[in-house]
Amino acid sequence: MKPFSIAIHGGAGEVLAKNLNPDQQKEYHDALSKAVDMGYAVLEKGGTALDAVEAAVVDLENCPLFNAARGAVFNSDGKHELDAAIMDGKTLGAGAICGVSSVKNPVKLARKVMTDSQHVFLAGAGAAKFAKANGIEFEKDEYFFTQLRFDQLQEARATGQVALDHVKKFGTVGAVALDVHGNLAAATSTGGMTNKMPGRVGDAPLIGAGTYANNKTCAVSATGHGEYMIRAVIGHLISSMMEFGGMPLDAAADRAVNQVLKQLGGEGGGVIAVDQQGNVAMPFNTEGMFRACRTSAGRVEIKMFGDY
Ligand code: ASP
Repeated sequence: MKPFSIAIHGGAGEVLAKNLNPDQQKEYHDALSKAVDMGYAVLEKGGTALDAVEAAVVDLENCPLFNAARGAVFNSDGKHELDAAIMDGKTLGAGAICGVSSVKNPVKLARKVMTDSQHVFLAGAGAAKFAKANGIEFEKDEYFFTQLRFDQLQEARATGQVALDHVKKFGTVGAVALDVHGNLAAATSTGGMTNKMPGRVGDAPLIGAGTYANNKTCAVSATGHGEYMIRAVIGHLISSMMEFGGMPLDAAADRAVNQVLKQLGGEGGGVIAVDQQGNVAMPFNTEGMFRACRTSAGRVEIKMFGDY
């Protein structure tokens, strides 16, 4: 049988056992387990990597625990500005959106951009117009409100910070997959960073930075301080280390996260990545990263803390 694999993340940062009580740990564990199983179920039935990553990311977007769609963080104006991207490793087709509000599942809109427009990346009002014309579901502001994110904004405003030093639980979501047809795909969705400037766009929707897939090499979804992911062009960097440097997936992903990103400074982060053989790498240089994977070779992991 041909191998297939999926890996997901729910954000990297100061994910420490002392910051999450046992009930919260269980909530995160169950949410990760559900999302990875949803993606895996698609692959198990012979479905595509694109459908698998979309299914997993939609599930995480619908979960208020994560900083994507429903649980998205607030910008400095107290608004949500959502970013997302999806990429097909077979065709190098990609779709991305940024700065949209009210779209229930930004990853679905990103996929529509990929399949139903002549473009790769739509922003703000234009992306919303395209969403409306293409039957994408919208939700009212209340749907996206969570007390935790609102409180984080008040604290961030009070201290003038973007994100919070002591709550570096960024919470972006992403998925990468290899299907039985040998195709790779990646998807990422985020509300960005708490108290970000209106109009700020992170790495998640930038093809090659937070999201990248190429059948020649790997599929990557990143999470962490976007400004640094963008400078490192981290997704494409990992792919290039494999394609032109002959490195295996785990070494390339580890070098990108633990050397290149660290040397750039910033608050760090991590990636999830899968290659053509179904190997999964999930390195991070923060205290923890919400992550899970399931492979046809029998690897099953659901983790959040720094035990990798
Ligand atoms: N990378 C995201 C951003 O900078 C944040 C995160 O991963 O949590 O927008």
